[in-house]
Amino acid sequence: MRIIVQFLPILVLLSCYCEQDAERIEGPTAQRQSSKSSKSSIGSEVLESPQVKDSVLLLHNLIDVHALNKRIFVDLKYTGTENFLGRRMYDHIKKAYLQKDVADRLSKCQDYLTAIDTGLHLLIFDAVRPVSVQQKMWQALDTIPQTERRNYVSEPAYRSLHNYGAAVDLTICDSKGIPFDMGASFDEFKEIAYPSMEATFLANGQLTKAQIDNRKLLRRVMYSQYFQSIPTEWWHFNACSRKVAKRKYKCLENEP
Ligand SMILES: [Zn+2]
Repeated sequence: MRIIVQFLPILVLLSCYCEQDAERIEGPTAQRQSSKSSKSSIGSEVLESPQVKDSVLLLHNLIDVHALNKRIFVDLKYTGTENFLGRRMYDHIKKAYLQKDVADRLSKCQDYLTAIDTGLHLLIFDAVRPVSVQQKMWQALDTIPQTERRNYVSEPAYRSLHNYGAAVDLTICDSKGIPFDMGASFDEFKEIAYPSMEATFLANGQLTKAQIDNRKLLRRVMYSQYFQSIPTEWWHFNACSRKVAKRKYKCLENEP
């Protein structure tokens, strides 16, 4: 377990909540546990039990990815302040949950990565994201016109694949949890984070070949299980289309 102190980006429009929860990596020696007894936003005392909270997630067929494959590390950025909003967005979610079949595919991606180098790990920044949190993110950026805001956060009304547990934000790290240099941080909204612009930034020297090779390795690993990348975020991968997700999965409306 270790504390990540990595000063991040960009577009920090809001004041910090001054939450003091340290970011922790969920690695092979430390399954993350909630360190404080928190009340559910649903307001039911029954939901105070972690087991019951997990069962709510199970109803959506969501499973804890790290429990499935201990080689996959987790550092959820929205449980702390190291994200584009500079504030904690999750009150209760402490683990990376994905749809069961999506988690199985991600586990195979880790196996693929391990076959390349046993010292490398996938490191998850965000997995399932309730619609209520998506709404909070959307509202937090209300100084930005809607058309432009969609570049940063999916409009809650249209749902995000994260809301179904069918998208994952992640990188590759070493055995100590130190992330690969991708040339742009997670949640970086500038074009330097765009996979579609890599050739341009390589040509003008703003990205190195090594940084692009790191991104290519991540894509190669994720493509091995047919995850799809998007043009604007090197860290984001979809497990399927929004249409398929809508048909197959239940949307997680609120934090359990
Ligand atoms: Zn994402």
